[in-house]
Amino acid sequence: MKVAICGGGVIGTSIAYYLSQRAIQVVVIERTGIANAASGKSGGFLAHDWCDGSPLEPLARRSFALHGSLAASLDQDWGYRRVDTLSVVASARQDVSRYRKMASPRWLADEAAVHGQIGTAATTAQINPAAFTNAMMAVAIENGAELVSGCVEGIMRSTAGDSVAGVVVDSTEITVDAVVIAMGPWSVLACDWLPLPATHGLKGHSIVFDYAPSPESLFVELETEDGQRTSPEINPRPDGTTYVCGLPGEDALPVDPAHVIPEPGAIETLRQMTAQVSPELASANILAEQSCYRPVTQDGLPLIGRVPGIAGAYVATGHSVWGMLNGPATGEAMAELIVDGTARLDLSPFNPARLPAYS
Ligand SMILES: Cc1cc2nc3c(=O)[nH]c(=O)nc-3n(C[C@H](O)[C@H](O)[C@H](O)COP(=O)(O)OP(=O)(O)OC[C@H]3O[C@@H](n4cnc5c(N)ncnc54)[C@H](O)[C@@H]3O)c2cc1C
Repeated sequence: MKVAICGGGVIGTSIAYYLSQRAIQVVVIERTGIANAASGKSGGFLAHDWCDGSPLEPLARRSFALHGSLAASLDQDWGYRRVDTLSVVASARQDVSRYRKMASPRWLADEAAVHGQIGTAATTAQINPAAFTNAMMAVAIENGAELVSGCVEGIMRSTAGDSVAGVVVDSTEITVDAVVIAMGPWSVLACDWLPLPATHGLKGHSIVFDYAPSPESLFVELETEDGQRTSPEINPRPDGTTYVCGLPGEDALPVDPAHVIPEPGAIETLRQMTAQVSPELASANILAEQSCYRPVTQDGLPLIGRVPGIAGAYVATGHSVWGMLNGPATGEAMAELIVDGTARLDLSPFNPARLPAYS
C-alpha cells in the first residue's frame, strides 16, 4: 500500500512516522519545508490532563504518554523535558500582590505575582516543536518514507469517482492507494477536491529570546497599560532560549504558507508585554520574530478519520491549541485506521462526517 500525506507539520510527520513503523510505503508532500508553519513556531507545551472532561481526553492522555516513550526510545534530541508550570498575574495598572501565593522565579518582575502551580513534572512537559516535527520526519525517512517538496494541487479519483487514485503535485500525478489531508489550516484548500468540512486559521505571534532562565513554563494573565487583558505564555527551553507567544493577529490566512509574516507593530507589542512580566527576558537578544496560524474547525474539535464517501481518503487536522501535544496519538491512530481499518482510540468525536462539507 502507498499512502500520500499532504502537509509536513507535526500531524503529517507523526502519521508518516507511525505508518513507516508498519512498513507502509509513505510519501510526505510539503510545500514550504517541514515544520515551516505552526508546527515549527508554536510553544511546544504538553499537558497530561488539561483536556480532561472534553472529547480530547483519551487522545491527549495517550499522546502525552507517547511523547515520553518517543523521547526515551528514539535517538534524536528535541528538547523534551518534564517541567513545573506556574500561573502568573501581572498588571501595569494595579497592585497584584494580593494574588501572590508562591515565591516567584528570580527572573520575574517584582510586580508579577505567582498565583499557583498549575502543572508539575508529573503532568506537564515541553518540546522544541520544530525539532520534534523534523525528528518524526527523519525517523520516517530512515524507515523508508519519502519526502517530496512540492505543492499539492488536487486529488485524482478512480473512474467511478468513489475512491482515491493519486495526488497532483506541481502538475505531476503521483499514483497512491490512500491520501491523508494534513495541511493544517490550508486543509481548507482540499474542500475543492474532497467533501470535507472547513478548517480556519487563527493567527498568533511569537518571539524567541536568547535567554536561559529557570525552566518553569508560565501561563500569564496580564493587564496592559491601556486596560487590555491578554494571556501570554512563556516557555524557557533547554537549548538556552525562551519562547513567548500570546498576541493574536487579524490577517486572513494567505494561500501560500511562505507568506505568513508578523503584523506591523505586533512583535514590539509582544516584547512590551514580556517586559511587564520579566524586564530581564524582554531585554535579551531576539532570535526569531514570527507568526503562525493554528488550525480550527467549526466545533473546535479536530477532524481525524475517513473522508465520507471516498475510499482511501483521510483527513487529520484542526488540532487548534493542542496540535503539538496530540500529534503522536493522532499519528498512531491514523496509521491504525489506514492499515488495520480501526484505531485503538475511539475516533468518533473527531469523525469528519459530523460536520457539513464546505462548498
Ligand atoms: C502561537 C501558537 C502557539 C501554540 N502552542 C502550542 C503548544 O504549546 N502546545 C500544543 O500542543 N500546540 C500548540 N499550538 C498548536 C499547534 O502548533 C498546531 O495545532 C499544530 O502545529 C498544527 O499542526 P499541523 O500539522 O496540523 O499544521 P501545520 O503545522 O500548519 O502544517 C501544515 C503544513 O502543510 C503545508 N501545506 C499547506 N498547503 C500545502 C499544499 N498545498 N501542499 C503541500 N503542503 C502544504 C504547510 O506548508 C505546512 O507545513 C500553538 C499554535 C500557535 C499558533
